[in-house]
Amino acid sequence: MLAYALALGGSLAVVALVFWSASMGAARRTQQLRVDGVARLAARLIQQAGTSGVSVVVTSDSLVGRQLEPGLRRILAAAPGYVLVADSSRVLYTSALVRALTPRDGAGITSAVYRLTPDLPAAEVRLDSVRLLLVANFEAGAPGTRGLRVIAGESTASLAVIRNQMFRPVGLALPVIFGISLLIAWIVAGRAVEPVDRLILELEAIRDGRSLHRRLPVESETAELDRLAETINAMIARLESSFAALRRFTADASHELKTPLTVLRADIERAMQSSKMSYDQLPALEEALAETARMANLVDSLLTLARADEGRFDVHKEAVELEPMMREVFETSTILGEEAGVTVQLSVADPVTVHGDPVRLRQLFLNLATNALKYTARGGTVTLALERRGEHVAFSVHDTGQGIAAADLPFIFDRFWRADRVRSRTPERGGFGLGLAIAQWIAHAHGGSISVASRLGRGSTFTVLLPVGPDAVATESG
Ligand code: ADP
Repeated sequence: MLAYALALGGSLAVVALVFWSASMGAARRTQQLRVDGVARLAARLIQQAGTSGVSVVVTSDSLVGRQLEPGLRRILAAAPGYVLVADSSRVLYTSALVRALTPRDGAGITSAVYRLTPDLPAAEVRLDSVRLLLVANFEAGAPGTRGLRVIAGESTASLAVIRNQMFRPVGLALPVIFGISLLIAWIVAGRAVEPVDRLILELEAIRDGRSLHRRLPVESETAELDRLAETINAMIARLESSFAALRRFTADASHELKTPLTVLRADIERAMQSSKMSYDQLPALEEALAETARMANLVDSLLTLARADEGRFDVHKEAVELEPMMREVFETSTILGEEAGVTVQLSVADPVTVHGDPVRLRQLFLNLATNALKYTARGGTVTLALERRGEHVAFSVHDTGQGIAAADLPFIFDRFWRADRVRSRTPERGGFGLGLAIAQWIAHAHGGSISVASRLGRGSTFTVLLPVGPDAVATESG
């Protein structure tokens, strides 16, 4: 926009400059022709006098010296401007304007008279009081006029008038024109960019995977933008269908895996209880059972996420009192903590009610608590807290465990992401890296959020913020 305005302002300035130099040149040329005309006229008059037999140069006064004949001087007095007639050694006639000059300027103009030659008949002379354009005429022919030169001059002040009257206003107007063009450029550029800006805003809204059903509007005035929007829409449609196909595949595959896994599990359990089973088969069967349970867990998690992505997962919301649920989670964690040699504490438990799905919320809390236990070494402490924070309730799990490296924190909620897998290839604690992804989905499905603060080797704090339900206020005030 600035470049556009600068280009416009620059071209205006160039046009003004060209126009200025052209009109100054034309004015100079006209002035020269006019002055030349006066000089020519005066020369012609002198020549005519010479041909009609008048002695052009007379010496009436020996003190004054040679002069132009008085009759001729009277005629020449009618010629406008500065007029001088000189022979090769002295000035014979000066017009009233020349005589009115100061002695210094008079001397200046006289010396200029002799600088003019037939080859260079015109010159600009700068005197103290005035700047003159002088043009000499060396025409001779009639007897008694030989060797005479006639010089006419005119003040160049008229050129200054052109400069001042015509171009000063232009110079003053230029910044105004520049300002106006900048404003117009701003408005025009703004108009031109506005539809693109709108398109970008719409696209930004579609960027996350859940908004792929949305399309860009195709109704701008510009055909190119409409084509762009149509192309992007076609791209989004393809993305949407392939995303949907992927989700459906995951959902269908995990659904189909559920039954054979259940059957497998039942079979293994039956084999373990069979009287024909030899003792040394037990460890293998136990391992198979554990792996089957792990796989069933994975399939469950995958199905949960795939359904959540498809928006097919119903969250059955009701008024849920969090404090009793929190105590249940605390008790379960205490039992698990005892096995793991980790102390579990309950720091605060404010009675709060939220509008949510009790099954999902329990899953979320348990998930965070079991994670804390999983990643805390023997002798460590896990602290659960539930507190009201304005319009939200904060459920937090703090542990004194291994912590998470700052570089890993951005990926912690990604699916299948595990610090174990990044650091070493062996999954020590048997997770799949889906627990936190599910926890995050549950928090979001309840209009809440989940965040983590952690330092490697020092421990982590996971905090879930949920909006307090409408019943909570009633519970508190009642
Ligand atoms: P997993 O089943 O592997 O625990 P999650 O999604 O629950 O999967 O967690 C992903 C990863 O985040 C874990 O593998 C672990 O590296 C890290 N993590 C989760 N909770 C904690 C915690 N309390 N302390 C340290 N690391 C944790």
